[in-house]
Amino acid sequence: MSRVYNFSAGPACIADEVLKQAQEEMLDWQGTGMSVMEMSHRGKAYMSIAEKAEADLREIMNIPANYKVLFMQGGASTQFAAVPINLMGSNRKADYILTGQWSKKAIAEAKRYGDINVAASSEDSKFTTVPEQSEWNLSKDAAYLHYTPNETIVGVEFPFLPETDVPLVADMSSTIMSKEIDVSKFGIIYAGAQKNIGCAGLTIVIVRDDLIGNCIDGMPAMLDYKIMADNDSMYNTPATYSWYIAGLVFNRIKENGGIKVLEETNRRKAGKLYSAIDESSFYSNPVDVDCRSLMNVPFILGDSALDGAFLEGAEKVGLTTLKGHRSVGGMRASIYNAMPEAGVDALVEFMKDFEKNNA
Ligand SMILES: *Cc1c(COP(=O)(O)O)cnc(C)c1O
Repeated sequence: MSRVYNFSAGPACIADEVLKQAQEEMLDWQGTGMSVMEMSHRGKAYMSIAEKAEADLREIMNIPANYKVLFMQGGASTQFAAVPINLMGSNRKADYILTGQWSKKAIAEAKRYGDINVAASSEDSKFTTVPEQSEWNLSKDAAYLHYTPNETIVGVEFPFLPETDVPLVADMSSTIMSKEIDVSKFGIIYAGAQKNIGCAGLTIVIVRDDLIGNCIDGMPAMLDYKIMADNDSMYNTPATYSWYIAGLVFNRIKENGGIKVLEETNRRKAGKLYSAIDESSFYSNPVDVDCRSLMNVPFILGDSALDGAFLEGAEKVGLTTLKGHRSVGGMRASIYNAMPEAGVDALVEFMKDFEKNNA
């Protein structure tokens, strides 16, 4: 068996230790004689898994007691609807910052429910920067401000935390747990699990208590944060296995020194890759230096005719899924928490060799 370094943007790599533990526990979880997949979500064994996952997440992210953690389904894309439905209130107005393809989708979905003010946009720059807050046009009566701290496709990350008097809502799908944050600054944080948490099927929603209970009448019960919170995310059958895998990941982060240690490693990993790009005249990255993503590093080759050879050569040395998003082209290396530093080192070495042989 040989494992590759998988640079996929999502679903993305998961640490070997986590997969091995899941494998060891596959047929018989801790003497129950059952796989976690086969357990009733209301049984004692599964409840202990679910509760520990939440407790560990609260500990590693330092989530204050006045926040609920919901384990939902439907991906971040479903939260694009759940957020406006739960937060818009009677005036049905919200502010959004447009910095890439994901915030664009969030805006399109929110528009189905109310009046959306795009307070700032970097579309003119092809989303290669983040507009400074001094240039934003925030409305006076918005129910909340939504933004995407890390845009996964273009690899652009906010270098600052937006300042606002209304609840701040963040789609952290591709950045959650990559660096330390102060949860109390946010009204809602949501993230699909398949990038930095675990496997697809699970969506984590961290929501401040006072924002729960105002869902617009007539909306699906499954999207109502109050129903989810009152039922401990078990109003229906949750994504039990994905929740379990997330728990293994949280536990591993806890045991390895927490998010602080991850952040240091992530900064080192991204630093190595951006240096390799910047020091070469063959590779380039179009994003403003101070807005570059820690997690998703797109780069283009001097000659796009060489893209195929690059991908093929990389594949041969076990570096996979480097093809850039179709809207950007070139390459993209997603280097989430679970990507070992050795994987980044191997990629940098391959890039240097490829340049030497082809530039
Ligand atoms: C991947 C991604 C999404 C979409 O997530 P789904 O779970 O597939 O709905 C939304 N926002 C961001 C920032 C993403 O990276």
